[in-house]
Amino acid sequence: MTQSGDIPAGMDGNPHLPVAELPVMFLSVFDLYKIGIGPSSSHTVGPMVAARRFLDSLKDVVLPDGARLRVSLHGSLAFTGKGHGTDRAVILGLAGETPDGIDPDAVDGVLATMAERKSVRLPDGREIGFDPATDVIFDFGPALKGHANGMIMHVEAGSTTLAIETFYSIGGGFVQTEAERAASVSKGDVPPANVPYPFSNAEEMLAMGQRSGKSIAEMKRANEEMVHGDSLDAKLDRVWGVMNACMQRGLAQQGILPGGLNVKRRAADVLAKLRAEQGGNAVQPHRVMDFLSVYAMAVNEENAAGGKVVTAPTNGAAGVIPAVIRYYLDHCVGADAGGVHTFLLASAAVGGIIKHNASISGAEVGCQGEVGSASAMAAAGLCAALGGTNEQVENAAEIALEHHLGMTCDPVGGLVQVPCIERNAFGAVKAVTAASLALRGDGTHLVHLDTCIETMRQTGLDMSERYKETSTGGLAVNVVEC
Ligand code: SF4
Repeated sequence: MTQSGDIPAGMDGNPHLPVAELPVMFLSVFDLYKIGIGPSSSHTVGPMVAARRFLDSLKDVVLPDGARLRVSLHGSLAFTGKGHGTDRAVILGLAGETPDGIDPDAVDGVLATMAERKSVRLPDGREIGFDPATDVIFDFGPALKGHANGMIMHVEAGSTTLAIETFYSIGGGFVQTEAERAASVSKGDVPPANVPYPFSNAEEMLAMGQRSGKSIAEMKRANEEMVHGDSLDAKLDRVWGVMNACMQRGLAQQGILPGGLNVKRRAADVLAKLRAEQGGNAVQPHRVMDFLSVYAMAVNEENAAGGKVVTAPTNGAAGVIPAVIRYYLDHCVGADAGGVHTFLLASAAVGGIIKHNASISGAEVGCQGEVGSASAMAAAGLCAALGGTNEQVENAAEIALEHHLGMTCDPVGGLVQVPCIERNAFGAVKAVTAASLALRGDGTHLVHLDTCIETMRQTGLDMSERYKETSTGGLAVNVVEC
């Protein structure tokens, strides 16, 4: 199998080849690094994609007068949907917007138009009644059977259902219908097709690297070029450009984040202090960790504010990888633009393996799957960019992931702010530490990445639902909101 996901690329609105032309089970670097808006890939990006897909599916449905569209949110989408802006995301999707295409500054205007119009306009011009104030329902009953993040979209006229679809937002902006989910859950070990290095786990990845003499990034590049051809590097540059722009915006913003927790943005202040120390003779050696932290926090503060973000592999964990790339470019000897491509490719190879064999979703396995996965990906990327062997890269990813095992998801107020923003800083610091430790070894180690990923999967299964993005346990119930 390939470094594959549960759904083929292109089903999530990304501008890839049509699904039918894609290699089976291929999970592209651009499926892990998707451009969207904050604050959550599973609660904002996914529902927006689902709503847009439902809209597109209505083209052959006969719509009598009085047809009405309703959406119900279930499980984690209901419990933490308000804080994550899930209702807003659904309305934006029904307005025809996409996570990649929408301008964050235009969001309020689109929502105001929808509230005033009280209808959804299909691409062919027909309209269906939809009042954003009453037709998005938060259902606090049991979660749907298929996944913790479920939503049902239906169109009805009186007591007649004209169209209905259940969607699951499975993390990282990936969306599945009920049928797609059933197919992916039951698919078992479907062999891959059409990519030269179809690894599905770290063991296969290392074996293929040994046989071919290629690095992990080179194998991933060869796989990606099957889909993206000559445009691959330009697309990688775009991903890094959006990540970096998000960070720069975050480093320049002050004020209080939205949502009511009164969380103050800190990245700009800390950066100003770091710059003021520049050239002084009382600088502590751990100052570089503060740089890493502000890079990560800047991204996650932007994410919390609903800004343009790249899932890496999710929105909640979006700060780790950009922070470590910025660290690589600004602080590492010999860094260059080619190293950023190597970083993104090697990290995506690891991210694909994690997603395929466990999860990158906080709603499925807790934060170990989000910030833990991001840290493992960043460690692999940095190690590769700094010239690590394939074995060292695998070791770096394993070290970073191992020391996030068991980490729960318990966002206060259902907002992607506390503990998420600081948590990304720590994910970045751990990633650099892991890469550095791996580079000082020879790649041999006791716990293999596949073992660690399987441990994360099992730990996620054992984890109480209270710690899976429901905000019903942990910090979420112990921090007093003011
Ligand atoms: S605690 Fe972790 S998994 Fe949960 S919302 Fe925050 S970043 Fe995502």
